[in-house]
Amino acid sequence: MKVRILGTAAAEGWPGLFCGCETCKKARAAGGKNLRSRASLQIDDFYKIDFPPDTFYHVMKYGLDLSRLRYLFITHSHEDHFAKDEFEYILPGFAHNVEAPIRIYGNSAVIDALKQIKESSDAPEGLVELTEIKPFEPVKADYLTFTPIKAEHKYSEQAVNYLVQSESKTMLYASDTGRYSEAAIELLSRQKIDIAVIECTLGLLPWEPRTHMTFGAVLELRDMLVKSGAVDSNTQLVITHFSHNIGLLHEELEQIASPEDFTVAYDGIMLEV
Ligand SMILES: [Zn+2]
Ligand SMILES: [Zn+2]
Ligand SMILES: [Zn+2]
Repeated sequence: MKVRILGTAAAEGWPGLFCGCETCKKARAAGGKNLRSRASLQIDDFYKIDFPPDTFYHVMKYGLDLSRLRYLFITHSHEDHFAKDEFEYILPGFAHNVEAPIRIYGNSAVIDALKQIKESSDAPEGLVELTEIKPFEPVKADYLTFTPIKAEHKYSEQAVNYLVQSESKTMLYASDTGRYSEAAIELLSRQKIDIAVIECTLGLLPWEPRTHMTFGAVLELRDMLVKSGAVDSNTQLVITHFSHNIGLLHEELEQIASPEDFTVAYDGIMLEV
């Protein structure tokens, strides 16, 4: 799998869209890895997880060709992961020669919203295929399998993360996550994870990691998976999806993460899986 993390910020972006705090001022001045767009991940040319409002920017910045996108997996309907109004531009008149169908997977909130758009438009049959996913029920998507992992986030719907597996490799993309349930830990414990990309929205903030993860909660999850053997010294560990409220620039985050062997993701980082 050729994996690229397209965006590494929490909902408001980093610097925050309207934010004038000291961290955001420093991020604007420093630029580079301190400029973070909303979270999404691309695998090869054909697979993508989440569809943030920065998707058009990602297309331009990374030279993506979404007319070739075959599979789109959505984690939940928060706007930073699912900018549903942008789907209008898949319709005839806006998009030509789309390699249909684009298969879109998500929970009932996501699929219902997309069905409404589909029904209120003149989308031709077969342009998109919408499938509702259920936690822990794997979806075979050509040469990869995506298993939705139950997340503890956005309680009005079933948010999920994805375990992505090729014949020989396993990647966990855990955003947005919260502290996993026993059922989620149990399933993950049985895997051999080559790469784990985990949200660290709250960094070292002294907040309870209820629907988002602190770095402490990330380490707890890592330790549980080490104990079961799912994670070992060969596993690449990556943190992503940062809120500017953390107050640390990229290098400062690295100083905290590196001693624990975590890579701090930045926009555009390529991962070997
Ligand atoms: Zn988010
Ligand atoms: Zn700010
Ligand atoms: Zn969310």
